Amino acid sequence: MDVNSAVWTVPASAREFGFFVDGQWAEAGDRPMSERKSPAHGVAVTRTVRCTRADIDHAVGVARTAFEDRRWSGLPGGERASVLLKAAAGIRARVEELALLESLESGKPIGQARGEIEGGANIFEYAAGAARALHGDAFNNLGDKMLGLVTREPIGVVGLITPWNFPFFILSERVPFILAAGCTIVSKPSEVTSATTLLLAEILSDAGLPDGVFNVVTGSGSEIGQALAEHADVDMISFTGSTAVGRSVLLASAGNFKKVGLELGGKNPQVVFADANLDEAADGVVFGICFNAGQCCVGGSRLVVEKSIAAEFEALVAAKMARVRIGDPLDPNTQMGAIVTAAQNATILGYIEAGKREGARLVCGGEAYPSDTGQFVQPTVFADVTREMSIASEEIFGPVLTISTFETFDEAMAIANDTIYGLAASIWTSNLDKATDAFRRIRAGRVWVNTTINNGPELPLGGFKQSGTGREAGIYGVEEYTEVKATHIALGRREPWVS
Ligand code: NDP
Repeated sequence: MDVNSAVWTVPASAREFGFFVDGQWAEAGDRPMSERKSPAHGVAVTRTVRCTRADIDHAVGVARTAFEDRRWSGLPGGERASVLLKAAAGIRARVEELALLESLESGKPIGQARGEIEGGANIFEYAAGAARALHGDAFNNLGDKMLGLVTREPIGVVGLITPWNFPFFILSERVPFILAAGCTIVSKPSEVTSATTLLLAEILSDAGLPDGVFNVVTGSGSEIGQALAEHADVDMISFTGSTAVGRSVLLASAGNFKKVGLELGGKNPQVVFADANLDEAADGVVFGICFNAGQCCVGGSRLVVEKSIAAEFEALVAAKMARVRIGDPLDPNTQMGAIVTAAQNATILGYIEAGKREGARLVCGGEAYPSDTGQFVQPTVFADVTREMSIASEEIFGPVLTISTFETFDEAMAIANDTIYGLAASIWTSNLDKATDAFRRIRAGRVWVNTTINNGPELPLGGFKQSGTGREAGIYGVEEYTEVKATHIALGRREPWVS
């Protein structure tokens, strides 16, 4: 289907989901339901179950049994790969259904949603290879009477807590790697964007994943997410979301010392040197802050630009911002859709008011974008931003760009690193030496040179500093979900210790 010629409409009624445990849909019964309204259209689009702590206990028990009896971890990597490849095909076969639900629940443009679903299938295909490539090590240098082996084993039951900004894509950056490692999963998507996670459970089941290996419970983070993080029978939590909640997940996980992988917030610099191709850099900077309406952990929210070209570059950015197409996410021409919730919208507008109050110079935007049915924000740029201003240091998670300037390379690096975060950074220059020096000195888990927000399953992702711990994706992403075991095998007769 050509997404640009399709006509997408909001369905006449909200779609209702149960939750998914032990290979089957579970009915809501007398549990309350949570209704999700499209943030762009203001009408109910999905209804999901508010699971209970008892449901978490049950799902974790099911995942534990599925792990202990080795129905998944005991299979050869090739068989696990085959299921992941079938799942990728299953995702591709349902791309329109998944993309529409993703766009309706999150407010993101339909074309972007479709790209993210297809991108998710691509990650499953990569991870299928990783299931076969995962291996340990042998030490044949311990002498004739000893052999040393290092083997990797699946870590066990993984609790997976995912956010609303890229519900299916972030899920796909985790699930196939966790499965490739041989683990079982209890997944808790954000309550506002649960639909595509629930459908993934069905797709995996149809692909031949044994029952109980991938389970989905729905409900609020403060109840269900917290219960999962606290659970004594969960071996690892993979959490993606805010730094504040990441901290509470870490504390909640302390009871049984479970391993915790955290992908948290960012305040990512876009460093533009005077020798860059300014038109391309401006395009990248606008994309970097407007993509997903700025609700992107790796979005470039701080422009750090060389003073000699700052005025020219600011004008270029503002001119391109004015041409970003904002509107109905179901219009295939839309580039920037709605803000996910009224609360997030209020947070963004609050930061914009703080920027005005604190004395930053408003270059463009600065208001809500008018709509009768949903919540949208104009792409906004503030210049003359100083480090004391809240907009300079706090993660806004909206389409708000701040500009600060530098005169020397060292100053550029100091400003880029002047943050509690270390998730991502972009460098724009035509000088290879400068680019190399900069990417070495920037303290962030992902660095882009003359581009931004590129991804792909081959390269790992994760943060330095308060942007998180651990890595997802790539071969690093599979290894993250394994324990390393060292085994000494004695050969020949034992020298007696007791004479
Ligand atoms: P949260 O950190 O609150 O939510 C992320 C996930 O954690 C969701 O599934 C949420 O569930 C769940 N959750 C919430 N509270 C708890 C808890 N106490 N224990 C366990 N899980 C919990 O992010 P928000 O959705 O509130 O977004 C706010 C900020 O988070 C943004 O402004 C941004 O800074 C950051 N963020 C970063 C993301 C990233 O990719 N790094 C992604 C999304 C947000 P539920 O939604 O159902 O409450």
